[in-house]
Amino acid sequence: MPEIRIKGIRTRAVNVPLEYPIRTAVGVVATSPLVLIDLHTDAGVTGSAYVFTYTPLALKAVQQMIDGLASIVVDRPLAPIQLAQTLESRFRLLGNTGLVRMACAGIDMAAWDALARAHELPLARFLGGETISLPAYDSHSMDDVDLGRKRAEQAVRAGFKAIKTKIGYSSLDQDVNVLRSIRDVVGDGVQIMVDYNQGLTVPEAIRRGRALDDEGVAWIEEPTLQHDYTGHAKVRSALKTPIQMGENWFGPDEMSKALSASACDFCMPDLMKIGGVTGWLRASAIAEQHGVPMSSHIFQEFSAHLLAVTPTAHWLERMDIAGPICEPSLTFEDGKALFGDRPGAGIVWREKEVERFIV
Ligand SMILES: [Mg+2]
Repeated sequence: MPEIRIKGIRTRAVNVPLEYPIRTAVGVVATSPLVLIDLHTDAGVTGSAYVFTYTPLALKAVQQMIDGLASIVVDRPLAPIQLAQTLESRFRLLGNTGLVRMACAGIDMAAWDALARAHELPLARFLGGETISLPAYDSHSMDDVDLGRKRAEQAVRAGFKAIKTKIGYSSLDQDVNVLRSIRDVVGDGVQIMVDYNQGLTVPEAIRRGRALDDEGVAWIEEPTLQHDYTGHAKVRSALKTPIQMGENWFGPDEMSKALSASACDFCMPDLMKIGGVTGWLRASAIAEQHGVPMSSHIFQEFSAHLLAVTPTAHWLERMDIAGPICEPSLTFEDGKALFGDRPGAGIVWREKEVERFIV
């Protein structure tokens, strides 16, 4: 196959409704603000990906950043590892974090997608993996008792063997009450993970965590500030329940520092913040080196393919933040996610819906 070159990048900003707002201990994500990226090549294939900006306020800035990056990547070979190096060195002075890293990651994802599509292979197989089914958990919010029970019921009916709920209510009693009411619905055969979204101080995380130690929770996620690796390590050593973190690591080096500080038992890098497919591949080597099980964070379409080539693959998070504007690329059955044999990461825009939610 002759060398493929990048011909152009198209971005579109959309603000997509969520079936359930993402309620956390530190704020609500009411809609899903996404920048959609299409990377065109001279081989006639287009790579597609999206980045998630958490707040609509950041949509335009991220879109402009990606549009700006086009001037660096257009006419270069479709070689994502090289591209990542070029972009990294270009932003060494500014700092390759925050919106810059999000924008670079989006281009990286779209480039890998285009390359896999050019080879007519699903991304997992293009990267040397197999088409496998992955254990997936259904990811919920700070839903309180009634909605919490309803969503738990739906998840169990859909075959999920694990669910995650966000806690960090105003009291420990409320946390335990919500947890027990969900347990009551799902029974002992379903695992429950909990997520504090950084909402607690270190002593409070230890106090609440000790109570949760008796509740059979599969993991406690981000009990305290995400950048406080020492604090996480203190919480971890005080508790029996495994500590999970990683969705806020901007790049593999932050992950490496966290794991070296023994901050967590499990890790869950976010595909975008870790640096796209290239960043994920580096992160998966770090997880393997430390013997730490690695799960995904949102971005379920790409993440499924990447977990298939992750040596310590753990759980796929099912949280469908792009559902309204993407044709479904995963099927969930009996608690497992399966990606089909669509080439690339399998992202296909539902153009009519994209039009509807364009910003
Ligand atoms: Mg989380």
